[in-house]
Amino acid sequence: MLVQFYNVSKIYPNGVKALDDISLKIDRGEFLFLMGPSGAGKSTLVRMLFREELPTRGQIFLASRSIVRMKRGEVPRLRRNIGIVFQDFKLLENKTTYENIAFAMEVVGASSKDIKERVTEVINMVGLKGKEKSFPGELSGGEQQRVGIARALTNYPLILIADEPTGNLDINTSHEIMELLFNINRAGTTVIMATHARELVKSAGKRVIMLEQGRIVADNPPGEIFL
Ligand code: ADP
Repeated sequence: MLVQFYNVSKIYPNGVKALDDISLKIDRGEFLFLMGPSGAGKSTLVRMLFREELPTRGQIFLASRSIVRMKRGEVPRLRRNIGIVFQDFKLLENKTTYENIAFAMEVVGASSKDIKERVTEVINMVGLKGKEKSFPGELSGGEQQRVGIARALTNYPLILIADEPTGNLDINTSHEIMELLFNINRAGTTVIMATHARELVKSAGKRVIMLEQGRIVADNPPGEIFL
């Protein structure tokens, strides 16, 4: 089991109960959609995985290690195991495709040889060969999201978290990005994707967890029809 949540609740200092007694298991290699209206607690749940937030109650394990009890000094290593893809890409506008991706490895102290090898590899993986020297402003939305995905993959994460990765993309581009995420998943990376895009979720045939007001209201196994 890769991820385990046991009776996790989160009450923010302002009194908002964002998660209410969540228990959840995610296997290695799963592809999982997280759905639910705005404010349901999706981001809070996801932020707990990389210890951006701590639960008020409950336990969370990643690969059998408690994220809650983890020492502060171990957090950077935890975060290297998790790749994050954002709705608004969060690329550095004054850096090229290559530099944006390399940056994620420079900050964790990789050697320049390893950086060169791995950046070339992930650029090929996401289909951006030939765009190494382009700046984000010279790329389409779909291409910018590919850079974001490549950057999230550089450190060989156990989990890829994608928060509304198609939220700023048209429908055709969204399908292309989904295909890329499915390929990454097929190659072994666990993927958790928060989204509002019902049509994409319906056609994907993957596990879907529905959150409402901080509770899991449905957990549909892959392929099960949901409306
Ligand atoms: P979603 O991602 O599904 O939109 P969130 O996890 O962002 O849901 O939010 C769940 C609830 O917690 C909402 O009511 C939101 O306003 C509240 N919330 C989120 N982050 C914070 C925070 N840092 N401080 C206080 N309340 C928060």
